Amino acid sequence: AMTADHILLSGLDPEQREVAEHTGGPLMVLAGAGTGKTRAITHRIAYQAAIGASDPRQVLALTFTTKAAGEMRSRLRSLGVPGVQARTFHSAALRQLRYFWPRMSDGPFPDLLPQKSTVVGHAMQTVGISPERETVRDVAAEIEHAAVSLLGVDDYAERAGSRSLPEGVDIDAMTRIMHRYSELKTERRVLDFEDVLLVLAGALGTYEDVAAQVHSQYRSFVVDEFQDVSPLQYDLLMRWLGRRESLCVVGDPAQTIYTFAGATDRFLRRLPVEFPGAREVRLVRNYRSAEPIVGMANSVLRRTGRSPIQLIGTGRTGPHPTFTEFSDDGAEAEAVASRIAGEIESGRRASDIAILFRTNSQSRAFEEALSSRGVSYLLRGGERFFARREVKEAIAVMRAASNRGGTDRLDVQVKEILSSVGWSPTAPQGQGSVRERWESLSALVTLAEDSQAESELPVPLAAFIADLEDRADHQFAPTIEGVTLASVHAAKGLEWESVHLVGVSEGLMPIGYADTADAIDEERRLFYVAVTRARTALSVSWSKGRRGGAGVGRRPSRFVGEVQAGKPARPDAPARKAPVSAPVRCRVCGTLLTTRADKNRGRCAQCPAAVDEHVLEALIHWRGAKSAELRMPVFLVLSMPTVREI
Ligand code: ATP
Ligand code: MG
Repeated sequence: AMTADHILLSGLDPEQREVAEHTGGPLMVLAGAGTGKTRAITHRIAYQAAIGASDPRQVLALTFTTKAAGEMRSRLRSLGVPGVQARTFHSAALRQLRYFWPRMSDGPFPDLLPQKSTVVGHAMQTVGISPERETVRDVAAEIEHAAVSLLGVDDYAERAGSRSLPEGVDIDAMTRIMHRYSELKTERRVLDFEDVLLVLAGALGTYEDVAAQVHSQYRSFVVDEFQDVSPLQYDLLMRWLGRRESLCVVGDPAQTIYTFAGATDRFLRRLPVEFPGAREVRLVRNYRSAEPIVGMANSVLRRTGRSPIQLIGTGRTGPHPTFTEFSDDGAEAEAVASRIAGEIESGRRASDIAILFRTNSQSRAFEEALSSRGVSYLLRGGERFFARREVKEAIAVMRAASNRGGTDRLDVQVKEILSSVGWSPTAPQGQGSVRERWESLSALVTLAEDSQAESELPVPLAAFIADLEDRADHQFAPTIEGVTLASVHAAKGLEWESVHLVGVSEGLMPIGYADTADAIDEERRLFYVAVTRARTALSVSWSKGRRGGAGVGRRPSRFVGEVQAGKPARPDAPARKAPVSAPVRCRVCGTLLTTRADKNRGRCAQCPAAVDEHVLEALIHWRGAKSAELRMPVFLVLSMPTVREI
C-alpha cells in the first residue's frame, strides 16, 4: 500500500518531485506558465509535513493574491494538511503588526487607509498644487512606487531623477507632497497599504524580541510568483528569514507584470548570487493547456526575450485559438456573451469560463451582455463586490455586533447576523437583484466558514472583519459561481477551461500610455499571461471602435500580428475546416488562396516557404456589406470560425 507521502509525490513529475523533496538550503524554481510551480510548492509543504521534515504551522507560504492564498489553503486541507499560513505579504504583515502593536505603542492600532487619494489630495493642496483627479492618482502612484522601491522621502529626490513625474509636478513639489503626506498620516493616525510592510520591517529590525518571536514561529518560507516581488517585499522576506536558509521560491520572468508597481524579477535572477548554495530547478512541461494554446504561448514567449526555454505541451489536442474583429465594443460584448451562453448550454460550467481584459473599465459592456442573457458572473479584482450595498451593510452590522462581543464559533455568528438582514440558507427563486443580494451574503457566509475551518479555536468576529477589510483593500472578491470577469493582472496564477481575451487592439493591449520599449515589453508579458490562462479554448477579439461613438479606427494589437501560430497542426489533431470562404492572399507571392490552403496545413499553395516565414493577407467578407482587412498568419485566418457571425 502506498503511504501518504508516496501519494503526495505520485502526482508530480521528476523535477516537481525534486522541489517537494529538497530540504536544507534555498531552492529556486524558474519555469514557464502552467508548468506546475504552484502545484509543486503546495505538494512540497504537504510532503514535508507528511514525512515530518517540517511542522506545517511553522511554514509561511506567500502568494500574490488573497484568492491564491485561499486556494492554497484549501488545496493543503484536501491533502490532509490544515493550518498552514498561506497569505499575501500584506495580510501576513498586517496580522503580525496587529499582534506586536501593543509592544510598539501605547495607542490603539491605527486605522488603515483604504486608498491614498484623499490624503494625497490634501497634501497637494497644502503645497499649493491643485488636486486634479488625474494628478492625484498619478502622485499617489508615485508615492506608492517610492515606498515599494524603499526610497525614503529624503533619498527620493536624489534617486528618482529619471522618472517621469505627474504633469505639473516637479521633483521639488513631489518631495514636498511626500513630506506632507507622511505628516498627515501621522497626524491622523493612519497607515497606508505599504506602511503595513514598512512598519513591520522596521519593527523586526528594532525590537529583538519581536524578531526572535517571528523567527521561532516561522521556520520555512515558500514564495509563489517570485518574479513580481518588490524591493519592499523582498526586504521583509529577508527579515523574516533572518540567517536561516529554508526558502523556496518559484517564478517565471516572462510573467513579470507589476513593474509599474515596483516589482522586479531581479531578485529571482539574483537568488543564486545572494545564496550561493541555492539549488535551481527548471520545469518545462506545461500541463495546463492544449497543444494549440501552448504553441501560441511559445510564440509570444519567444518575443518576450525573458525565457530561452520553450514550453513543452502534454500533447492534449484542442481547438485552435480564434481571432475576431468587431465593428464596436458593443458588438464584441454581444458576440462573446452569446458564445459563452452557448458554451454553458452545451455543458461547460460557468465557473470554467473567463473574460479577460486589460483595464477594468472594459468590463461594463460584457457585464451587461451577460446579464441580459441571464448568465451570472463575478468580477475579480473588481472593487465592486465590496462596493455592493448589501456587502457594505453586512460588514457594518457585523462590526456593530463585534463590539458587543460573542463567544459562538464564527460557522454560527455570521449566519445569525446575516439572517437579521434577511439572508437565508436557501437560494431565492429566479434571477435579479434579490438573487444577487443573496449571492453576496452567501459568499460572506462561505468566507466565514472557510476562516473558521482553518482554525482550531473560535475565530473572533473582529478578526474576520479585519480579514474582510484586508480583502477589500486588495480588491479580491470571494468566489460566486459564475463566469469570471477579470483584468489580466488579477488573473495571474489562475486558469479556466475557456478564456475569452477581449479588447486586443492597439491602445488597449498594449495600453495607449505604454510609450517606451520597456513598457511595450511589459504589455507583451501581460498578453503572455492572458494567453496561458486557457486550458482548452481561447478566443481573442477586439473591436474597431466604441459603441455609439464614431469609429475611432482602432487597429488590432501588434501582438496578434506577432503571434506566429503557423506551426502546422499536429498530425493527430484534425485540422479545423476553414469556415471562411473568402479568398486569402499570400503577401509573399500574391496568390489568392481559397480554403484549399487548409489542406496544405498553413502553407501557401504556391510558394514553398512555410507559413512561419510569411504572412498572408486576408480579405474577409462577412454578412452585410462590411469588409475588413486583417493581416495575420494564415493559420489564424483559417481558424476564424466566428467571422461569419458578426
Ligand atoms: P502559473 O505560471 O500560471 O502560475 P504554474 O506553473 O503555477 O502556472 P500550476 O497552476 O501549478 O502551474 O499548474 C497548472 C495546471 O497543471 C494545474 O491544473 C495543475 O493541476 C496541472 N499540473 C501541474 N503539474 C502536474 C502534473 N505533474 N501532472 C498533472 N497535472 C499537473
Ligand atoms: Mg502558479
